[in-house]
Amino acid sequence: MTKFRRIGVLTSGGDAPGMNAAIRAITRKALDCGVEVMGIIGGYSGLINENIIPLTARSVSNIITRGGTMLYSDRCLEFKTEEGMQKAINTCKKFNIDAIVAIGGDGTFRGATDLTLHGIPAIGVTGTIDNDVTATDYTVGFDTAMNTVLDFADKLRDTCESHARCNVIEVMGRDCGQIALMTGVASGAIAVCIPEVPFDEAEAIEKIKSAKAAGKRGFVVMVSEGVVYTDENGNSIPYGEVLCKKIQKETGVETKFARIAHAVRGGSPTLRDRLTASKMGLVAVELLLAGKSNRVVIEDDGVITDMDILFALTVDRMYKNKLKDGDLDRYSAEEIAEMEKICNKRREEINSLYKMSYEICK
Ligand code: ADP
Repeated sequence: MTKFRRIGVLTSGGDAPGMNAAIRAITRKALDCGVEVMGIIGGYSGLINENIIPLTARSVSNIITRGGTMLYSDRCLEFKTEEGMQKAINTCKKFNIDAIVAIGGDGTFRGATDLTLHGIPAIGVTGTIDNDVTATDYTVGFDTAMNTVLDFADKLRDTCESHARCNVIEVMGRDCGQIALMTGVASGAIAVCIPEVPFDEAEAIEKIKSAKAAGKRGFVVMVSEGVVYTDENGNSIPYGEVLCKKIQKETGVETKFARIAHAVRGGSPTLRDRLTASKMGLVAVELLLAGKSNRVVIEDDGVITDMDILFALTVDRMYKNKLKDGDLDRYSAEEIAEMEKICNKRREEINSLYKMSYEICK
């Protein structure tokens, strides 16, 4: 067992409900193992600005119920520079921080890899509402975000029903349509539009028309923020706004647009997020103590396990068609096949759910 005297924990990138539960689990597990814990404030910028506080079992009391992150988060460009990295390493040395657990998304894991390469072993824990880290089935925050969207959609649906209206709802997720897709199915949306699957606008409009003719009054349409329309002048417009106008014009159903925006990031984490964050936090500390670094904690078919960060980042680029020359050079044919398997699993999940949304939401 590797003996660390002191580790640091940080949350970085977009915040997600459940990050606090992970901080709590990491802190308490490490303290139980005789390792001190420092909280780094504001993501990687806390390492650059020496904004660091000691964490005790009591300082993480009562945070499991809270949304946001008690350590705050930031997007720190300076950390990406060699100069910024040197400052971060010097801070680790000054504060005797032997290793770091970084909670966030793929950007955060790139930072964790850089730290490891510069001599500070780091472990990543997935925390992002978007569920857009290809290597894992699940990211902490996803369930809470979806339940927030569901509540929002259900409320709009009530009033749509009363007034025979349609509501187009735009939800977050960056380039990943999973929040929109799953909440679309669960809220009974008549149409779902996500970046991963080509959207048949005419079919969606036809569906609303025929459902209206069959007596349906209220409609919800779920659109992911990642779908963007480019007008004749080259301006990018959120597609949800465009679709809203088209539905009203072509179906005659009064149609309103609603953007849930950042509300989806907040709120008390659900049981699933608290539990997953707690399990992942524990595994992160165990990995460090077992002498492992540059790993990301993931969920695979219900099991919390871990994967090499570079492998995970490469799978992510493969899935998003962003592989760069030489990205696969270091990997064997078996490893590349494993990456393709993970990508196919994600695609199949999304395609089958999308198909289902069209079959059962009428
Ligand atoms: P997320 O972790 O949610 O994907 P970001 O992509 O914004 O969020 O990344 C969070 C932070 O991680 C960045 O602000 C930066 O400090 C660090 N980071 C991102 N990319 C890199 C990189 N290539 N090298 C080092 N650090 C990075």
